[in-house]
Amino acid sequence: MIADPFVPRPRAAAAVEGLTKVYGRGDTRVVALDQVGVAFGEGEFTAIMGPSGCGKSTLMHCAAGLDSFDSGSVRIGTTELAALDDRQLTELRRDRIGFIFQAFNLLPTLTALENITLPSAIAGRRPDPEWLDRVVAMVGLGRRLDHRPGQLSGGQQQRVAVARALVSRPAIVFADEPTGNLDSRAGAEVLGFLRDSVRELGQTVVMVTHDPVAAGYADRVVFLSDGRLVDEMARPTPDRVLDVMKTFDTVTRTG
Ligand code: ADP
Ligand code: MG
Repeated sequence: MIADPFVPRPRAAAAVEGLTKVYGRGDTRVVALDQVGVAFGEGEFTAIMGPSGCGKSTLMHCAAGLDSFDSGSVRIGTTELAALDDRQLTELRRDRIGFIFQAFNLLPTLTALENITLPSAIAGRRPDPEWLDRVVAMVGLGRRLDHRPGQLSGGQQQRVAVARALVSRPAIVFADEPTGNLDSRAGAEVLGFLRDSVRELGQTVVMVTHDPVAAGYADRVVFLSDGRLVDEMARPTPDRVLDVMKTFDTVTRTG
């Protein structure tokens, strides 16, 4: 059973309703999202889970204002994205959303600290020094703050990207397969920091993953299959997530 996404939960940091996204046309037409409705509660860590190609990244990109959609609505807080022009959308992404991607997307010529503070600098702001200290302390980079990305391991680079996403105190952080390029130990660290950002800093995090272990760090998992929201789970464990994923495989095999 799919719970009504608008039944009382913490206030929604972001929500989509009736979201449909189609790529291509004619023979190449793909319905990547089919009437998806989901709300992401404030101060919650939600994982979007599902097999490869089921529409996870498309959902994240639409919900984060990175991609257009064909019908439905998307809001961040109380702001309806469809009502914004391009400049307003750019500002909203910059001011209210943090992003973490599978490829760390750090600038190679800047130090870790410069990478963390660059988005604020571009926005013409100086990060609150106490907050910056807290975020930097949480991701535990210590003296590596003046290293360049090339001098850091993948796990350390992704910790820089996590700090960069958190430092502006965004309303919501979206992470697309943030551990996809990491070994399991480095991945566990990054997932731990994401969870700590929710527990200790009150951050709202939405993470796309196809990994049941990663989904086990979340407070809630929503399952996508073939562009549709098909299930959800509170207080997930990797085993329970895996059990749900197995039922999708069966459905796919039997058509
Ligand atoms: P996931 O992140 O779950 O692996 P995606 O959201 O990337 O899935 O893709 C969902 C579906 O949309 C897939 O069938 C994929 O091939 C298709 N798709 C994604 N991006 C594009 C694109 N830019 N052009 C055409 N089809 C796309
Ligand atoms: Mg994807």
